[in-house]
Amino acid sequence: MSEDCIFCKIIANELPGEILYRDDRVTAFRDIQPATPVHVLIVPNKHIPSMNEATSEDEAVLGHMQLVAKKLAIKEGIAEKGYRLITNTGPEGGQVVYHIHLHLLGGKSMAGGLV
Ligand code: AMP
Repeated sequence: MSEDCIFCKIIANELPGEILYRDDRVTAFRDIQPATPVHVLIVPNKHIPSMNEATSEDEAVLGHMQLVAKKLAIKEGIAEKGYRLITNTGPEGGQVVYHIHLHLLGGKSMAGGLV
């Protein structure tokens, strides 16, 4: 837990969040400013600031985040039409919150361009 991290506080129930999934390794909650009709953040319970700080020790949790995202895509009804999983890293990657997270985006077509 990092004292000044908003995602650590959501994980610890110290800040409100619409939690959709939680287990001993990850927590998933709705993004407060959804970019798409379905916008969920999947985060490790352990504070990892960004992909740049992730190590081989984090390999399992990073894979688990992807599989939890897949399950949530099914639950949210977007699996069949498709969705996007994004991890922004660093300033030019557009990262704002420095607790690694996977954006699950869907519910509208994003075909035709990546950026
Ligand atoms: P990023 O730009 O990849 O760091 O994404 C950070 C995301 O966190 C943005 O999409 C924000 O809307 C979202 N966010 C920031 N604060 C909260 C919060 N308290 N609860 C839920 N989502 C948040």
